[in-house]
Amino acid sequence: MKLTRVCLLAIACCLPFAASSNDAPLNPTAAPARPKNVVIMIGDGMGAAYTSAYRFYKDNPETEEIEQTVFDRLLVGMASTYPASVSGYVTDSAAAATALSTGFKSYNGAISVDVNKRPLPTLLERAKKLGLSTGVAVTCQVNHATPAAFLSHDESRRNYDAIAASYINTDADLILGGGQKYFPEPLRQQFIAKGYQVLTDFTELAGLTQPKALGLFADVQLPWSMDEPEAHKLSNMTSKALALLSQNTQGFVLLVEGSQIDWAGHDNDVAAAMGEMDEFAHSIEIVEQFVRSHPDTLLVVTADHNTGGFSIGANDKYEWHPEVLRQLKSSPDEMAASAIAVEQWREPLATSLGFAIDDELFSKLERARMQGKKALATAIKHEIDLRTNTGWTTGGHTGVDVQVFAAGPGSELFIGSQDNTDIANKIISLLPKPKKDVK
Ligand SMILES: [Zn+2]
Repeated sequence: MKLTRVCLLAIACCLPFAASSNDAPLNPTAAPARPKNVVIMIGDGMGAAYTSAYRFYKDNPETEEIEQTVFDRLLVGMASTYPASVSGYVTDSAAAATALSTGFKSYNGAISVDVNKRPLPTLLERAKKLGLSTGVAVTCQVNHATPAAFLSHDESRRNYDAIAASYINTDADLILGGGQKYFPEPLRQQFIAKGYQVLTDFTELAGLTQPKALGLFADVQLPWSMDEPEAHKLSNMTSKALALLSQNTQGFVLLVEGSQIDWAGHDNDVAAAMGEMDEFAHSIEIVEQFVRSHPDTLLVVTADHNTGGFSIGANDKYEWHPEVLRQLKSSPDEMAASAIAVEQWREPLATSLGFAIDDELFSKLERARMQGKKALATAIKHEIDLRTNTGWTTGGHTGVDVQVFAAGPGSELFIGSQDNTDIANKIISLLPKPKKDVK
């Protein structure tokens, strides 16, 4: 392991920049060997089944070919995700984010501390020390495991209040996502006293013209993307972060997370998962465009782990039917809430689902509805799984490798097989070197 890391660092330092023909548009020859800006994007829980399913979900059935997605365009390698041996082979988001942020494996639940609970320097802390601007833009609460492991240190991801309070000391230039409930008024005042603008209304984001800002756009997580299809919140936060952080002529490091791909996976909700994938894909395309116009920017996209054991095809049948998903008007959670709120729910629910509810399905859903919203949402998801022929093996994570996608200067370093800690070490090796003390 140690040898691998040393080798990779050596490669990172020595490898001259060379654009290959198929990624030439994103790697113009004028691009520098070392990036000025780094954008790391994490699709939480986004195993390879999610990117494949997304390709079929977005396929135009009118054409013979299956159109490529941004993921197909940017794919360069794979990464293993296992945590420190004390936690076995299947990682949680905290240990995985610690690996991606610090280059060290730790136990499940660790927020950028080692197995002995000692703090490890994070990518954003290193960048800050070098004079770069830093930011995070996520769709979960900003103090959730992934952003937390890039911004702070805690022995447990569950210490939400302590993690939120610790952000006052990070000096991060942008912190955008959900989580109002973890930032009580006195804490918000501390941020304001430190020069932060504190936003809670998403419409205020457009008017933001300079860092620093703490944007908390929901009590906890942001709504499912498919329930507000015009909002494009992650895309908007991403483009605003690029515009504001690039005001620093020294460069910046930005973390963007499609946080709720994982939450949909935990819920075994293929509909919400595709909605979150779509919004994450849009956000990647925005950064891809930024890399084209700013060839000094490195983009690295990966997942922290796979969630749900999602399978495209199930029950011994060689079929998957994304057209069912394209008809849906809202998430199963939203459909269940609406159906509970009214007496005559059969027709409105059929409209939301995009298919008729026959008597057999009606009585099944009616029984679930009497048990409450959660049971009804589960019954709706089950019906969608049957019609799409989607499979799930768990409500948790699985230990398969995840994909790595990259563009821009240094992207060659991410080609092939690697460990999640290697991703961090490669990015760290590409940061500017600290200036020597002048005496
Ligand atoms: Zn998870």
